[in-house]
Amino acid sequence: MPHAQPLQTDFLAVFPEESGISETGELTIGGCAVSDIADRHGTPAYLIDEVGLRRQARRFIDGLAARWPNSEVIFASKSLPCVGMYALAQSEGLSVDVAGGGELVMALAAGVDPAKIYLHGNAKSDAEITMALEARIAAIIVDNFDDLDRLDRLATSSQNILIRMIPGIAANTHASQATGGHDSKFGLPYDQLRAAVARVEQSPLLHLAGIHVHVGSQILDTDPFAEAVRSVANLGPFQSYDIGGGLGVQYTEEDAAPSVNDYLDTITEAARAVLPATAKLMIEPGRALVARAGVTLYTVNTVKHTGKTFVAVDGGMADNLDVALTGQRYSAVIANRMTTPREVECDVVGRQCESGDLLVGAVALADPQVGDLIAMPVTGAYAYTTANNYNGALIAPIIFCANGVTRVVAERQTYDDLLRPHRVALAGMA
Ligand code: PLP
Repeated sequence: MPHAQPLQTDFLAVFPEESGISETGELTIGGCAVSDIADRHGTPAYLIDEVGLRRQARRFIDGLAARWPNSEVIFASKSLPCVGMYALAQSEGLSVDVAGGGELVMALAAGVDPAKIYLHGNAKSDAEITMALEARIAAIIVDNFDDLDRLDRLATSSQNILIRMIPGIAANTHASQATGGHDSKFGLPYDQLRAAVARVEQSPLLHLAGIHVHVGSQILDTDPFAEAVRSVANLGPFQSYDIGGGLGVQYTEEDAAPSVNDYLDTITEAARAVLPATAKLMIEPGRALVARAGVTLYTVNTVKHTGKTFVAVDGGMADNLDVALTGQRYSAVIANRMTTPREVECDVVGRQCESGDLLVGAVALADPQVGDLIAMPVTGAYAYTTANNYNGALIAPIIFCANGVTRVVAERQTYDDLLRPHRVALAGMA
């Protein structure tokens, strides 16, 4: 294991907590040198600082419990749905929310206690509701009256539910990440929510545990979260109030984001003012839990000095759709030469056939060369989960790095995996 110095420089403030620079000037994640990781596991690869991630989980759990003892932190697993992460969540005491049957299957396979699983979705199927009922999960978050119809039809024993409200809060974030405005496709407006509550009160099997709101994602000021708490206050009283996720994170050294403590102070102060003191306060962080722990490691395949300097790597929008989807600005470094001055302005681009396949534009890099390793930080959330096979790209592995040891928790796809769904076509050709 290379000797790693703790990171001192501001430009590395967005790298995982357990990052360092080795004596040979390369980036280390969880005590593992990136060149060793690349040699052993190949690139592109999603690296996760497991120790930092566990620490962040504790910050949320302990921080909320210290301010509001009757509380629950639910990992929004859509941000990093992999069995290794579900297992980590379970071992740290996080509950887990799942956005459908696929995530539910992974959470159960990872050994998450069903009593700590919550099912979301604005278009749940009969099959998904049945799976959730049979697994006896903690609660189903009802988004619409069709959910209630299905639950009435399919439930055979008592089931806790929460109902999702449209709070009418337009948080300042990218349009595709805003979910709390009046025109949101998620949840029910106030008047319809009241009707849903009245209906559930008549149901013999459904138990209304509380109200849910979620105002969006990558929200960089805390006021909308206080508003979210206030929005649920004049309903009820209920046993529990789930105010969703959405806390934004710092992606580049130029950004700023509220701390977990600021966020928890805001929601608990708002809750103290308007919610019943005995109610359970629930939050669903995804991005703010996992984003910083993740780094994507690439190899430079091409360096081209045309109008610009293009540094083309062996991944791209197939493993990180975020830039194309939300325009999120990231940063990047030459990970095998961290101490070389960063003097060449480059566009780090992917290998997918789109000009929009830009990972980081106009970033200063240390004289990039073919074969260099590029590390792109803050990719722990919403990268793996939106990965795709565009241009036949293979889904990259997820590698937990801790105390100088790498642990692959999701394998790299193979060409055989790519061909598997096409066996029927291949058989027809034989
Ligand atoms: N809860 C719900 C219902 C969501 O839809 C989402 C994601 O948009 C989250 C929690 C997690 O949000 P974030 O990853 O921004 O914390």
